[in-house]
Amino acid sequence: MPKDAKPQPARVRFAPSPTGLTHLGSARTALYNYLLARQTGGVFILRIEDTDQKRYDPNAEADLTSSLRWLGLQWDEGPEAGGPHTPYYQSQRMETYRRHAEELVERGKGFYCFCTPAELDAERKAQQARKEQPHYSGKCRDIPPAEARQRVANGETHVVRFKSPKEGSITVVDQLRGEITVENRTIDDRVLLKSDGHALYHLAAMVDDHLMGITHVLRGEEWLPSLPLHVHIYEAFGWEQPKWFHLSVFLKPSGKGKMSKRETEAMKLTGQSIFIQDLKDMGYLPEGVLNWIALMGWSYDDKTEFFTLEDLVDKFDISRLNPSPAAIDFKKFDHFNGLHIRALPAEALAARLLPYFEAAGHSISLEQLLPIVPLIQTRMTTLDEGPELAGFLFQEAIDPPAEMLVGQGLDAAASAAAVGKALEILEVLPEFTAANMEEPLRAVAEELGLKAGQLFGMLRNAVTGQQVSPPLFESMELVGRETVLARLRAAVEKLA
Ligand code: GLU
Repeated sequence: MPKDAKPQPARVRFAPSPTGLTHLGSARTALYNYLLARQTGGVFILRIEDTDQKRYDPNAEADLTSSLRWLGLQWDEGPEAGGPHTPYYQSQRMETYRRHAEELVERGKGFYCFCTPAELDAERKAQQARKEQPHYSGKCRDIPPAEARQRVANGETHVVRFKSPKEGSITVVDQLRGEITVENRTIDDRVLLKSDGHALYHLAAMVDDHLMGITHVLRGEEWLPSLPLHVHIYEAFGWEQPKWFHLSVFLKPSGKGKMSKRETEAMKLTGQSIFIQDLKDMGYLPEGVLNWIALMGWSYDDKTEFFTLEDLVDKFDISRLNPSPAAIDFKKFDHFNGLHIRALPAEALAARLLPYFEAAGHSISLEQLLPIVPLIQTRMTTLDEGPELAGFLFQEAIDPPAEMLVGQGLDAAASAAAVGKALEILEVLPEFTAANMEEPLRAVAEELGLKAGQLFGMLRNAVTGQQVSPPLFESMELVGRETVLARLRAAVEKLA
C-alpha cells in the first residue's frame, strides 16, 4: 500500500463451504482477505456457507478453523468470535434469505416457478438435442403475480427464480481483469430459493455480503461467470456493489490443467499434498505456506521473495493481484520453508521440532534438543527431517549393517584397519571436542593413503548409523566419547 494513501477500512469475508478439507486455494483466498483487512484497519469475517446439505462434511469446519489458526489468520467476526451479524452460518439464516426472495418477487425482480423436476429435465434434454446451452425456458416468468400468489397460497410446490433482464447487455468490473460485458439474454433465470425453502449461493451470498457490509469480495475465479448475475441481483435490490476480485486458479504442478480431485489423490501417493493439515504433519511451517501461497497470484516487486505475515500486511498491494493461473510448485515451497526454518531463533525452532522428535519415538526435553538445533538448522527443508538427521543422538543403540560400514572404494579389511586407527586417536584425545578431532583424523587418512572423505564417511556411518547427519565432529562430540568409542569398536568387529 502506498504510504501516503489513507485506506478505507475494508470489510471482507472468507466464505468457505464446509464440503472438504482446507486446501491451498482456500488458504490463499483467506490470506488475501486477511491482509486487506489488517492493512486497512478493517474487519476479516469468517462465514460458513453450509446451505448445501448434500455436500456437507462434518469434519470440514474443525479442519477449517484449526487450519486458519495454524496459519495465523484469525478472523474478527464469525464462528466462535461472534459479531454484530450473528449467526455466521448460512444454514441458520434461512429466514433472512426467504424474506429477501419475497422482496424480489414483490419488486417484480423475482418470480415463482412451478415447473416440476421432470418438466425441467425434459426441457433440458430437448435443448441438448438441439445443441443449445441448457437454460430455463422462461415458462413461469410471466404468470400474472396474483395468479402465482394464489397457486403458492394453495400449496403448490414452487421455487423462486431471479427474473434476469433479457434485453441489452451488462458491463461488470472485475478488479483484476477490468470491464466485462455480456448480453443479458445469455444470463439464466437462476433459482434463488429451492422448493424446500433453502436458499442457493446466488441469493444467500449476495444478501449476506450486503447485510454484513462487505466492501471487497475476494473469491475464486470459478465465480467469475456468475458475476453478471450477481450484479443484476445487487441492482434488483438497489444495493451498492462491493468491489469484485476473482482470484486466479491453481494449476497442476505440470502446469497443464487445473487441479482436480483425481490429481489431489495422486499427489498424496508421491508424498505431496495440497491440504493444510497434511502440510503441517509433513513438517512445513505456517510461515513457509503463507510465503508460498502469497506469491501464487500476487507479487511485490518481482524480486523480493521472503515475507513474513507481518511483512505481507505491510507490503500487500491489492492492485498487484494477478489473474494468470499459477502452477503449484513444490520445489519453491521447499525453498520457502527452508528460508523460514533458517530465519527462526534456535529456541523457537527447538520448540517447533520437539513434536516431530516425539512422533519419531524420542522422548526428549527442549533442553536436550536446543544444542542440536544449530547443527541441523541449515540442513533441513521440513521439520520432520529433524529426527531423520539427528534422531541417532537420542538412540541407545544403533545397528548399521556391515555393508554400510565399508568405506568407499575399500574392502572390509582396509575399512576395519582405518576405523581402528581412528579409534586409537580418539581414545587418547585429551579433550573430546569437535575442534580437537579434525586435524589428527585428517592425518590418519593421509597416513593410510585415503581421502579424508573416505575416512569421515566410514566414521559417520559407524557412529550415527546414517548416511546423512549433522557435521561429523560436532555429532561425535554430542554423542560423547564413551558411546563413540563403543560404536567404532562394534564397527571394527563387524567388519572383521
Ligand atoms: N462458498 C463459496 C465457495 O466455497 C464461497 C464463494 C465466495 O467467496 O463467495 O466457493
